[in-house]
Amino acid sequence: MKVGIIGGGLTGLALGSFLAEYGHEVTVLEQTAELGGHSGEWQFPDGLRVSRSQHPILPSDQGVRDLCARMGLENELVFANARTGFVHQNQLHPMSSIFDFLSFPVLGIKDRFRLGGMILQARMTDGWQALDSQPAREWLIRSGGTQAFERIWKPLLEAKFDGAYDGVSAVYIWSWLNRMSGIRRAPQMEGSVGYLRRGHFSLIEALAADIARRGGRVETNVRVREIEVGDGRLERIRTLDGAMEFDAVVAAVASPSAALLLPGADRGYLEQLQKSKYLGLICPVLVLKQPLSDYWTLNLTDPAYPFATIIETPHPEHPEYSVVYLPRYIAPDNDWMGVSDEVIREAWLSHLKLIFPQFDPQSIVHFAVSRSRYTEPVYGINMRASAPAVRTPYTGLFLVNTTQVYPALPTGEAIIDHARRAAALIHQGSHTPVAA
Ligand SMILES: Cc1cc2nc3c(=O)[nH]c(=O)nc-3n(C[C@H](O)[C@H](O)[C@H](O)COP(=O)(O)OP(=O)(O)OC[C@H]3O[C@@H](n4cnc5c(N)ncnc54)[C@H](O)[C@@H]3O)c2cc1C
Repeated sequence: MKVGIIGGGLTGLALGSFLAEYGHEVTVLEQTAELGGHSGEWQFPDGLRVSRSQHPILPSDQGVRDLCARMGLENELVFANARTGFVHQNQLHPMSSIFDFLSFPVLGIKDRFRLGGMILQARMTDGWQALDSQPAREWLIRSGGTQAFERIWKPLLEAKFDGAYDGVSAVYIWSWLNRMSGIRRAPQMEGSVGYLRRGHFSLIEALAADIARRGGRVETNVRVREIEVGDGRLERIRTLDGAMEFDAVVAAVASPSAALLLPGADRGYLEQLQKSKYLGLICPVLVLKQPLSDYWTLNLTDPAYPFATIIETPHPEHPEYSVVYLPRYIAPDNDWMGVSDEVIREAWLSHLKLIFPQFDPQSIVHFAVSRSRYTEPVYGINMRASAPAVRTPYTGLFLVNTTQVYPALPTGEAIIDHARRAAALIHQGSHTPVAA
């Protein structure tokens, strides 16, 4: 079968590789000059390559590890200790062990135990379905108490959802707590995260090479501008250079982007795609001559800061450099999206200096800002029933994107697992719903 895949991000390329393995003739079309989408990288004039955002591989990410092995990258995967903590009133507080937790000054001792009990309970329950209809706020207050909510969860939620967390379901917190538990490695339970020695873009390159090796094509600078449908089936796609015909087409793009490509689709289906809510992201990255700290991740409890998290790792290929990400999730229409790199640099760095007074801007080797309108789907209340399925109402047309990995978080692990299952569905022509 000739399969066209729109989108050369991790989803489109992983799907392309799995479909090519089944023997299909795959063509991946990417609108930009570079593959990878959110998993892309910066290439600086001195030749240094840096991931646009951080993509930790956890010890529990078996799907990513298997895919790396399949791509011949198993020896490139390195695990390192990962220290985590909080920034509260510009002071760093470790949060990597039970001892750290018990001495965390932001909460009283009773609330610390209550919060700890809630985290353990969330990790032990499989019953996320019961949380689908519950707002995160109500569930957190009921299970962890008002003080823990006000001092810890509220600032984290405000920062993560750009202030609009009222409609977020408790499933998001459940998934996040479960994912974070995958950082700890038994028996010592020290935190550990993995990365690819040549950067995680090497996985993107390997997937593209795998598709080509199996007879497929991966084309950049090809923007699909319309998917034509009629009589309940896929007809063709149109790029700026003309029409292309396939037996099956997969839109591996965000739901609102897919809606824009389908002007002839049924109104009800378009509304379903358009109402999928996403968070955008502004992610400045700094390459530094000296590290800021020995923490991998620091979460901030002060919502007045322009960023909510500080993620720092040595550069995978050049450990003499430290790479620092200062992400801020924003609503797709937030004014920050149109703000210049210079203004962002000034606002972000002045706040960084409050936390690290010794930070010297002279130690910055590179600074760059990524912006994206549709980075992560928002897990709203009753999301289970509203996520669009892989099979669209049009025979031969499929949608594969991160809204469908619910209840998992849209991480590399979940995307790869979803791409594998979606490829099986497309290959078999099965009617089994993959989403939800
Ligand atoms: C190892 C690893 C770990 C990760 N960990 C995390 C994590 O901890 N947390 C997290 O949130 N995420 C994580 N991610 C996931 C990641 O950042 C994104 O969620 C993921 O890259 C989304 O992939 P995507 O292909 O669905 O979308 P995108 O990356 O957005 O790719 C879509 C592509 O489609 C192209 N496109 C759009 N429209 C068109 C068109 N009309 N024509 C042609 N092309 C088009 C775009 O240019 C883009 O390249 C991880 C990823 C990896 C690899």
